Amino acid sequence: MKQVYVGAHTLDAELVRGLLESRGIHAVVRGAALFSLRGEVPMTAETLPTVWVDESDHQRVREIIEDYHGGGTASRVGARAWVCPRCREWLEPQFTSCWRCV
Ligand SMILES: [Zn+2]
Repeated sequence: MKQVYVGAHTLDAELVRGLLESRGIHAVVRGAALFSLRGEVPMTAETLPTVWVDESDHQRVREIIEDYHGGGTASRVGARAWVCPRCREWLEPQFTSCWRCV
């Protein structure tokens, strides 16, 4: 297995995993349990949830993840959950602004 993504939080990693699974790529999330311990353990890459795939799918996975991150197409906006760029809070698609930053 190869690590292909580090999520800002568990839902972020789970969203990427779901995206890959929907394209027929087997993916797993690791470290999600550790993530819930944040605040009690030092915050490092090891405590963030990560997404792993089979080595052979790596190239395709990169493209899918780049599309997920860099896309920013109009059809995406308002259609799916998003992450506040300021505080990294996870927000449902029906919210147009971050409740935490307002
Ligand atoms: Zn925010």
